[in-house]
Parts: sequence; C-alpha cells; structure tokens
Amino acid sequence: MTSEKCLFCSMNKKEIKVDFVYEDEHAFAIRDINPQAPTHILIIPRQHVDNISKLDDKAIMGSLFHTTARIADQENLTKSGFRLVVNTGDDGGQTVHHLHIHLLGGRSLTWPPG
Ligand code: 5GP
Ligand code: ZN
Repeated sequence: MTSEKCLFCSMNKKEIKVDFVYEDEHAFAIRDINPQAPTHILIIPRQHVDNISKLDDKAIMGSLFHTTARIADQENLTKSGFRLVVNTGDDGGQTVHHLHIHLLGGRSLTWPPG
C-alpha cells in the first residue's frame, strides 16, 4: 500500500480530522474507533512502514514503545497493568497496513487471545 492511500498517513497529514490523544514529531496517538477495552489507544509512527516485518529503522520501535508507556501512565494504567499488541499481516489480524501499537487497559484481559 502506498502512503497516499493509507488511513493513518491521512490522519498524520490532517487530511482526516481526528482527535490526537498525544503527538510529537515522531508519533501520534488516537482512540480506537472500535474499542476492545475501556482504554484502547493506537500509537502510530508518523513515518509510513507497512508492518514490523518491513521495519528498517531500529530506533522507531524503541521510541514508539517509550511513548506508549508514557501514554499508559497518563491514562492511569501503570499500576493496574495493560496490554500492548502489534497485529502483523493477515494471520495477525492487521487491518490498517501502517505500523501501530494497540494499548489496551482498564479491565482484566484474558489470555490466550482469539
Ligand atoms: P489493526 O487491525 O490493523 O491491528 O488495527 C487497526 C485499528 O484501527 C482497528 O482496531 C480499528 O478499529 C481502528 N480504526 C480503523 N479505522 C479507524 C478510524 O477511522 N478511526 C479510528 N480512531 N480508528 C480506526
Ligand atoms: Zn501510512
């Protein structure tokens, strides 16, 4: 997929209006439109990368996980705990082909996932 047709690139370019929970020069975060937990936030790098398998720049994920932990803290999830998910490819259930981390919290999550 090209970045021109990518939903998260369109949000990044502010072509689609969306409320950002957080943003800096490297990443932004939004609330998932179909939340699977009381808190369900997507943390998205501004740079388009299809998925973790296509990632060349090692620094992106370090920065993205660090940002995610800060957002989890802002959402008061540090003490109770939370789950981070990176769906990848068809079997991973990825539907938006722009790398992102799901932050899920606010309830006790079951394991294994479906
Ligand atoms: P994936 O399935 O690729 O891991 O995650 C994509 C996520 O994006 C899904 O959980 C889906 O609900 C969310 N999503 C899809 N379209 C939109 C949208 O227009 N706005 C928001 N806020 N979330 C979206
Ligand atoms: Zn994109």
